[in-house]
Amino acid sequence: MISIQTERTKSAAKKHFKGLKDQITSRLIKRKNSADVCLSAVDYLIFEELINMNLERILIGDISSALTCWDTLNIFVTDTGNLIKDVEYVFDYSWFRGYKKTLYNGFDLAYYLSIDVCPYCNRNYTTSHRINSKNKNVFPEFDHFYPKTDFPLLALSFYNLIPSCNICNTHFKGSINPDDNNLLNPYTDINIAKHYKFTFTPNDYDSLLGKGDNFSLDMNTLINSPTAQLKEKIDSSFAFFGIKETYELNHKGLIKDLLNKRIANSDGYIQSLAAYGISFNEAYRILFETYFEDEKLYKRPFSKLKKDLFNEVKSSRFKP
Ligand SMILES: [Zn+2]
Repeated sequence: MISIQTERTKSAAKKHFKGLKDQITSRLIKRKNSADVCLSAVDYLIFEELINMNLERILIGDISSALTCWDTLNIFVTDTGNLIKDVEYVFDYSWFRGYKKTLYNGFDLAYYLSIDVCPYCNRNYTTSHRINSKNKNVFPEFDHFYPKTDFPLLALSFYNLIPSCNICNTHFKGSINPDDNNLLNPYTDINIAKHYKFTFTPNDYDSLLGKGDNFSLDMNTLINSPTAQLKEKIDSSFAFFGIKETYELNHKGLIKDLLNKRIANSDGYIQSLAAYGISFNEAYRILFETYFEDEKLYKRPFSKLKKDLFNEVKSSRFKP
């Protein structure tokens, strides 16, 4: 799990609001004048007024603010059954996912955000691709942190749309309520990576040297985790997404290679590269093909695992 408050987040949120504001407003009017409208005229008036008054909070306010708007709608609109149908039309996610060159949509959100790797697993790329020769615009799935089936008003809310891989979104997260499973939110739980680390335990000598795969990988929350609640949230999120097992069972080869690389590149060697104008962060990035800085861990797969193993395995201990 990696936090995704990046330098681009705030500007992407502003673009999200600007891009959707007029589209939502026109969908509100279109629905009102359509034969498909479900709410009574009085209820629709209240619905329309509340949406227009709170559109910024719904689209780019923090999640708790958007949830409050949903509660408010359910209090003031009497026909809550039909409210869901009209909200689903106005904040329709399938329309947002369909690519229309001239209108802001999911592709633009993913592009402006530029979250390169799934924040839940830090394994799979979630990049966007515009392939002009094939007229294709491919962008990652967005997990609705609060599922759109239960919270349709949040279907297009910026902080409720987590760019994520298919495995995490479809096969693990699905439509569950995150509060029932005590899950971390990559947007609102900041600096997650500071509060846990992967640890490597070899069970034989070959595995210690990066030549065998008889080892175990654990994830430990750090004792400096600010609160017991955060520790519990980290533990339950890792268990929910099966991260430890996935890493340990499916990526033994990668872990072995990492150990070999670390053993071959001592701290002294990396420091000596400074003489050639190569900083520690640059040397680390070249050798381990990812970033060392916490705020850039979201850019490459396995960056947190690599950093923790790099820190844990001190190559000096392997020198004769
Ligand atoms: Zn994932």
